[in-house]
Amino acid sequence: MNKDIATPVRTKEILKKHGFSFKKSLGQNFLIDTNILKRIVDHAELTEESGAIEIGPGIGALTEQLAKSSKKVTAFEIDQRLLPILSDTLSPYNNVNIIHEDILKADVKKVIEEEFADISDLMVVANLPYYVTTPIILKLLSENLPIRGIVCMLQKEVADRIAAKPGTKEYGSLSIAIQYYTEAETVMIVPKTVFMPQPNVDSAVIRLTKRVKPIVEVQDEDFLFIVTRASFAQRRKTILNNLTSQLPDGKSKKELILAALEASDVDPTRRGETLSIKEFGRLSDALLPNFK
Ligand code: SAM
Repeated sequence: MNKDIATPVRTKEILKKHGFSFKKSLGQNFLIDTNILKRIVDHAELTEESGAIEIGPGIGALTEQLAKSSKKVTAFEIDQRLLPILSDTLSPYNNVNIIHEDILKADVKKVIEEEFADISDLMVVANLPYYVTTPIILKLLSENLPIRGIVCMLQKEVADRIAAKPGTKEYGSLSIAIQYYTEAETVMIVPKTVFMPQPNVDSAVIRLTKRVKPIVEVQDEDFLFIVTRASFAQRRKTILNNLTSQLPDGKSKKELILAALEASDVDPTRRGETLSIKEFGRLSDALLPNFK
């Protein structure tokens, strides 16, 4: 029986054996608690038939647990120094493939076609590098990949914003961008002590389950996100003031914006944070003819 990678003793042994030093700039905070990893994997609800995509395997702590719980794991790692370490630590597993690539530059759709042709249930599971959590999640969701969802560790503050409901101070354009594609829930709060080195911020695990049908049908997704970002530009301003100051030629189109607000049944004195995604969807479609 192999010893798990994610214990303080084994992790230190691996780092020493390979003379590895952490790169803060790559968000390298490795997990050293096997129980936490098993709970993360449980939240992904994998079966022996599932595939798992991991971002940033590090020295393989999570990869190992994924390999035990799924049919196949493919992991993207940016740091070349970790490749020989991973082939050492993961040598007991024959269902893991490591791709040396920046996830933000990778053609993930093509990788899925090549790596998971015989697999119909696919999840992304990751302990994300914190300097780049939001771009990674938005890339994976906007590319319309054939995945069931994403279970990932990230900064608690970002998890709070992603899963926020209307009317709360955390609710904003990020909540909408992600909840448009998925149902979002925080499933774990994780203490700093289970990482090596410990990060400066608190962590949480979120589960994003892709919606079978969009929460709202819109004519132009990109424009929906332009309207939501504009609506939250200054949180204390009314939606009318934000839209007129943020949308192109908004000031000269104030009357058209007012008419669109009325047509979509949104009071112009409301603030962006009170609107549901469905209301933003109606508003975006009503504004679209004036801005495209
Ligand atoms: N999965 C490991 C664990 O849980 O212990 C390591 C997680 S660590 C928070 C983040 C990992 O992501 C590091 O291995 C880092 O080198 C890698 N990484 C950072 N930026 C990346 C990128 N743009 N694409 C792929 N991997 C990246």
